[in-house]
Amino acid sequence: MPRTLDPELRRALAARIRYYNEMGIYDFYRRPVSEDAGEVAVPIAADEDEIAVSHHTSPGEEMSPRKAAVAAPIVEENIFEVIALKPEQSVSDPVKALKIIREDLGDCTRCVLHKQGRKQIVFGVGNPKAELMFVGEGPGADEDTQGEPFVGRAGQLLNNMIKAMGIEREQVYIANIVKCRPPGNRQPERDECATCSPFLMRQIAVVKPKVIVALGATAAKTLLAMNSSMMQLRGRFYDFKPAGVHSNDPNWDGCKLAVTYHPAFLLRDPRQKGEAWKDLQMVMKELGMKAPKATT
Ligand code: URA
Repeated sequence: MPRTLDPELRRALAARIRYYNEMGIYDFYRRPVSEDAGEVAVPIAADEDEIAVSHHTSPGEEMSPRKAAVAAPIVEENIFEVIALKPEQSVSDPVKALKIIREDLGDCTRCVLHKQGRKQIVFGVGNPKAELMFVGEGPGADEDTQGEPFVGRAGQLLNNMIKAMGIEREQVYIANIVKCRPPGNRQPERDECATCSPFLMRQIAVVKPKVIVALGATAAKTLLAMNSSMMQLRGRFYDFKPAGVHSNDPNWDGCKLAVTYHPAFLLRDPRQKGEAWKDLQMVMKELGMKAPKATT
């Protein structure tokens, strides 16, 4: 049973978080309870009624710190309903708002990727008012060098997919779950995705797309917080709201999200391109777009 927080403590916590917000600190992380339990630091949405506190309940367990750390149940409860605004939320110009998020990211050292050979942070690119947004996994070597998502071989294919939809790359917004290149192009770890994705959520809340296309399993699973296979995830729309952040536009309350194959996967298995095209056609229908006539 969740324990009710002492109102005094609740007020003190709210004041402390407001104080951090005023200093420009918006993202809070829950410390792992136990390495044995395999828990990872998870971002906590400071601006939602989601602030979680851990209690170790039984006084007996305090006798043995190790036992307490492993076995004590974590009780989570909402501590307050304060909506702390992100700094970009008071800015109506999306270009300026995205710049604020980029500045907030700084020369990020929040996860290990910063010391594993990244050349630069790859923030995101495109139309800050895009109706359509693509989200990939993380930068590869070319993106790391050029500082822009999807500029390598997978990027060329993504450009062709966008063209096939009858639009230009410049009309959409493109970003990744993690903004730093994982070494050797490995998949980003769960904690790296969890640490980096709050910035993507803020970008989404600024761009306010009508549809997001998640490219591949990492993007889909992180955005949807689901652990299903691509086969289960594709072929339908999800209602999506960026976690932990509100848009400053009362008319934007989230968007649709579709899942398709990652272009790098399609390069390895071109037979799946037809399936990806079906996904994109579903997106085009939602956006009222017509594919250009094929030229011979
Ligand atoms: N793959 C991704 O997921 N993102 C990029 O930016 C490039 C390749």
